[in-house]
Amino acid sequence: MDLLDTLTAKGLRGEVPTREEALAVLATTDDELLDVVAAAGKVRRRWFGRRVKLNYLVNLKSGLCPEDCSYCSQRLGSKAEILKYTWLKPDQAADAARAGVAGGAKRVCLVASGRGPTDRDIDRVTDTMAAIKEADPAVEICVCLGLLSDNQAERLKAAGADAYNHNLNTSENTYGAITKTHTYADRVDTVQKAHGAGLSACSGLIAGMGETDEDLVDVVFALRELGSDSVPVNFLIPFEGTPLAKEWNLTPQRCLRILAMVRFVNPDTEVRIAGGREVHLRTMQPLGLHIANSIFLGDYLTSEGQAGQADLDMIKDAGFEVEGAGEATLPRHRADIAEAAQAGGGCGTAAAASACGSGGGCGPCGGHSHAPAQADADAPAAEEPEDELRSDLVKVRRRGAGTELAPNA
Ligand code: SF4
Repeated sequence: MDLLDTLTAKGLRGEVPTREEALAVLATTDDELLDVVAAAGKVRRRWFGRRVKLNYLVNLKSGLCPEDCSYCSQRLGSKAEILKYTWLKPDQAADAARAGVAGGAKRVCLVASGRGPTDRDIDRVTDTMAAIKEADPAVEICVCLGLLSDNQAERLKAAGADAYNHNLNTSENTYGAITKTHTYADRVDTVQKAHGAGLSACSGLIAGMGETDEDLVDVVFALRELGSDSVPVNFLIPFEGTPLAKEWNLTPQRCLRILAMVRFVNPDTEVRIAGGREVHLRTMQPLGLHIANSIFLGDYLTSEGQAGQADLDMIKDAGFEVEGAGEATLPRHRADIAEAAQAGGGCGTAAAASACGSGGGCGPCGGHSHAPAQADADAPAAEEPEDELRSDLVKVRRRGAGTELAPNA
C-alpha cells in the first residue's frame, strides 16, 4: 500500500506525515489492519527497539474534584463508586511507589484530583518526592496536579520532579463539549508552564468520547507541535455514574488504528498505551506493543488493570523487554532537545506544552467516562459502536493507594 510505504519511510526518517495521511490511517479497513500495525512497528523499532517503558500510577488524592470533566469518575457530581480519600502521607505514597518500582516500573506518576495545586499541595508533593527518591534515587517522577499557577512548575522542578503530565485530551474544537470549568487554552498554558520550567512534558489524549477522526488528528498534531516528550493514549473507560457511561465507541481494531496514527505523527516520541488498555484492546493488547513503547503497570487511578505479572508476561511473550532504569527512553536527538530546553529554562519554540492529567484532566487515569463530544450530524460514525454496554469490563479500583490492601504491581 503506497500510504503505508510513505508513512514508514517518513517515520524512519523522523518526519511527520501530512494531516491527510494521518486521517487515511484511521480510515483503513480491517483487512489492512495487520499491515498498518507492521508499518507502525517498523517506526517504533527504529527509535525504541523492543523496549517497553513501565510507568506506575499513585493516586495521591482521589475523587471529590470541583471540575466537571465529563470523562472522569472523580468529577463534580460523579456517582461512580470509586475510592475517595484526601492526600496520602509521603510514606504511604512512597510505599505504593516502591511496589511499582519493584514490579519493574521506571517512572512513578504522582496524580491528585482537583483543578490545580495550592502552594501547600506543592509542599506535600515535595515531601512525597523526597521520600520516594530517598528509597530509590534513580526513579523518574512525573507529577500530575492539574492547572499550574506561576512558579509552581519551577518549585516542582527544584524539588526533583522529572516530568509534568497534563493532557490536552481532545481537540480545541470539541473541548468545550467535554469540560465547562476550564478551557483548552488553560491546558495548553499549563503544559507550557511545565515545559518552560524545564520539566519533561507528558501530554496525551482520550479517544472514544464521541470525537471525529478530524478531532483525533487535530489533538495529536497539537501535541506534536507542543513538543510533548511522551504521549499517553487513553481509551475512554465509560464509568457508571458519569455522563459518558454509555459511550462505548471503540473496538480493538479502532484502538490499534488510533495508536498507529499517533505513532506515525510522533515517530520518535514515547507513545504510551494508557487507561482503557485492558477494557478496549482486550486480547489485542500485545499488538499494541508493536506500536507503543510504553504502558502503565498494574492499576490506574480509579480502575483496576490486569495483574502486574500479566503485564510482564505479555511483554515477554510478545518478544519485548522491559526498559531498564539505566536505559534512555527517547532517542538521542530527542533527548538533546529536551536537555537543551531544560538548560535554557524552556523550549521557547512551538514545542512547549503538554502534560497532563488532572487539573482538569487526570491523564493516565483510567477512571474516566466521557461525555459525547459535540455531535456533528454530518460526520460519519468513526466506528461501529459496541452492540451492548460492557460495564462488566470496568472494575473500580479497591486495592493499593488509599486502601489497606497491597497494590497491584
Ligand atoms: S480529570 Fe482531573 S480535573 Fe477533571 S474532574 Fe477528573 S480529577 Fe478533576
